Amino acid sequence: KFINFVRRDFKEKWLANQGDPSAVIKILEKINPNALIIGFARRFATYKRAHLLFTDLDRLARIVNNEQFPVQFVFSGKAHPADGAGQGLIKRIMEVSHMPQFQGKIIFLEDYNMIVAKRLVTGVDIWLNTPTRPLEASGTSGEKAEMNGVLNFSVLDGWWYEGYRLDEKAGWALTEKRTFTDQAQQDKLDAATIYSMLENEIIPLYFAKNSKGYSPEWIQYIKRSIGHIAPQYTMQRMIEDYIDRFYTPESKRFAALSADNNKLAKEIAAWKQKVAAAWDGIKVLDVHTKEDIHQNNTTGQPFTSVIKIDTNGLADDLALELVVDKMENNTEKRWVKIPFKVVSREGNIVTYEVSDKLRDPGVFRYSYRLYPCNPNLPHRQDFAYVRWI
Ligand SMILES: *Cc1c(COP(=O)(O)O)cnc(C)c1O
Repeated sequence: KFINFVRRDFKEKWLANQGDPSAVIKILEKINPNALIIGFARRFATYKRAHLLFTDLDRLARIVNNEQFPVQFVFSGKAHPADGAGQGLIKRIMEVSHMPQFQGKIIFLEDYNMIVAKRLVTGVDIWLNTPTRPLEASGTSGEKAEMNGVLNFSVLDGWWYEGYRLDEKAGWALTEKRTFTDQAQQDKLDAATIYSMLENEIIPLYFAKNSKGYSPEWIQYIKRSIGHIAPQYTMQRMIEDYIDRFYTPESKRFAALSADNNKLAKEIAAWKQKVAAAWDGIKVLDVHTKEDIHQNNTTGQPFTSVIKIDTNGLADDLALELVVDKMENNTEKRWVKIPFKVVSREGNIVTYEVSDKLRDPGVFRYSYRLYPCNPNLPHRQDFAYVRWI
């Protein structure tokens, strides 16, 4: 059905564009219903890297022209009218598809729309997605393909970042890790990885056919992808997540804020105004660490920090915490947060103390963070005042 659709659609559009009728017949003859068919269809935003496959044309030509294990690519997609670079990608794919070695092997279907999309996500064997990590928000077409027994081969980004991990014997992935900061280098590496996974893993698996004419292992991949991955990406699951994580909590929050003529909302607004007005007048009077934790320290060694603050009328509205980051490969990773306790209070002057012990080996950075604290806030970022000490 899919091959028939491709032939019909390709021919119609070719003739509509005043293309040579004898040339189109030749191309259509080259479309092989027994080939492994790889689909790639989407908006041609440049981050989606539709050009990646065409990095090494000789290697690609060897893949698609292997007589024993034939492979075909079907592309479709549209670029935004204002996206010249995206349009350039389509032009490049068209050019390549017209080269003699790629005729009938790389097929571009014009006028991507929901009908073309539906045919593709139900008709191809593999769905290829090669976005620049980490720019893919979701990649919903891959989810649609998955539900139709099409196996995904994608960069671990968007939905596939989590989907692939549900069963790694149900599709293929390009690692989410960037090896190069230079994008051109990264593109080259990713392209080489795609070719080599196709040549060494994917194509041999597809053509490991039994006497009945199909590859039993390939069918296992399809079954596992439908059984283990697809059910997690239905609209039902999405709506349940929205209800549990957002709509229900938001509705409770709204009821609490608006009760009694918006009593709580007014209280919070007044509190925020009070804190904002006094914030710049807060003064740190003293910071004192009892033990020297910078030198010769060992895991288990206790330490105590004492900080004295003039709270400028906000003695009941502040909280202080010790924030520790671990340094790993030149990046900071949030390690632990430990709250201070109030140990004394004279008018506006509050003394805070934290006592703990060094827990883990490694290189750490630490700081103290003062922030406005009110149990009625939904979360801290709702009122993003902070003072690092
Ligand atoms: C699914 C679909 C999309 C979105 O695909 P992404 O993979 O999320 O970019 C766009 N256009 C059509 C016609 C679709 O069917």
